[in-house]
Amino acid sequence: MTEGAASAADALAELSAVAADPDAYVARWKERSGGKAVGVFPMNFPAEIVHAGGALPVLLQENREPDSLGRNLLAEFYCGYTRNIADQAAKGSLAGYDGFFLADHCTQLLGAVDVVRSELPETPVFFGQLPTSLTDAWTPDKAHRTMRSFVEETDRFVGRPVTDEDLAGSIAVFNENRRLLRELFASRRAGNAALTSGQMQALVKSSMVMDKQEHSALLRRVIAGLGEVPRDGRVRLHLSGHLCHAPRPELLATIEECGALVVDDDLFTGYRYVSTDADEDGDPVEALAQRYLDRDATLPCPTRVKHESDWEDELVRAVETSGADGVIVLMVRFCEPHMLYYPELRKRLNERAIPHLLIETEHEGLPVETVRTRVEALLERIHRSAAPGRTLEVTS
Ligand code: SF4
Repeated sequence: MTEGAASAADALAELSAVAADPDAYVARWKERSGGKAVGVFPMNFPAEIVHAGGALPVLLQENREPDSLGRNLLAEFYCGYTRNIADQAAKGSLAGYDGFFLADHCTQLLGAVDVVRSELPETPVFFGQLPTSLTDAWTPDKAHRTMRSFVEETDRFVGRPVTDEDLAGSIAVFNENRRLLRELFASRRAGNAALTSGQMQALVKSSMVMDKQEHSALLRRVIAGLGEVPRDGRVRLHLSGHLCHAPRPELLATIEECGALVVDDDLFTGYRYVSTDADEDGDPVEALAQRYLDRDATLPCPTRVKHESDWEDELVRAVETSGADGVIVLMVRFCEPHMLYYPELRKRLNERAIPHLLIETEHEGLPVETVRTRVEALLERIHRSAAPGRTLEVTS
């Protein structure tokens, strides 16, 4: 192994360890910096503002523990992510955070936040609601005012004013981190099969947790030593959906063990998280507001309304760009925005004769063998419909 490849492997291992145990990283960061950690709820809170105040913004992750104490705190029909956050709050696992911020108002998410408030009454929770409809005349002003309220709340939280210079610096740091991650997504899309979908997830998930500059330094080592692994004849898939949190790595591994190669995604813990940058020139609060408004144009989200852009159009465009042979839609069970949007996705994929499969996920109990059978059936369907002369391989 070359020195660069060894350095990349070490960096990847370090990032994967953070992705596997975010709480341990947060505890280490607090100990070494003496700073405050803020739990940020998905999917649209502008973490740049917390970073600009010198605190560590951590996108709250589902953990792997079975839910127990939290089971009585939210109804069974809440999504697995929100029920697990309630469980973490009830078990004291969120006690290391000095505050919580959110900008999204999914009803289920707000239920989880209410549990956090009730279980951690001494810890500040700030909710600033960004507009859901992105094309109304009043939307830009409302988005700007909400961003300003986040800055003012962060001023109070950190005990000093967060200046425009602080914000501009953090925007540049976050943009650079997103750019590095996008480089890896572009490389995968263009044909480099060097990273598995589980490894890609670890890179994004660790970015959601770590100090961004520290993360970028490790990411540069991964990129520098990664090398090129050309695609083989495996069936190429696009993974779509899974809002707010990461699908289990073993689910991704099962899909790949069936003989598929993931070439692109629009998962939240995936390309969706890094799709859009904020402008580095001009008023930084305006830039963050505009990034929020632009993000849905880059990659439409079913929790937002923008009449000019539709997720199904973007999905078909992404499939054509990457040359994916099919799509697996990963849906968090009981995720209402995704459930309501899914018929549109299915209709468009059917119209374009793109083979696809829906897999619903829960916090506990991944039915690996059922998933394996269904993925194998999808791959078989793709094999049967492959263009004459194109040889597809099953490598497992
Ligand atoms: S996964 Fe869906 S239901 Fe759960 S908090 Fe996110 S948007 Fe809401």
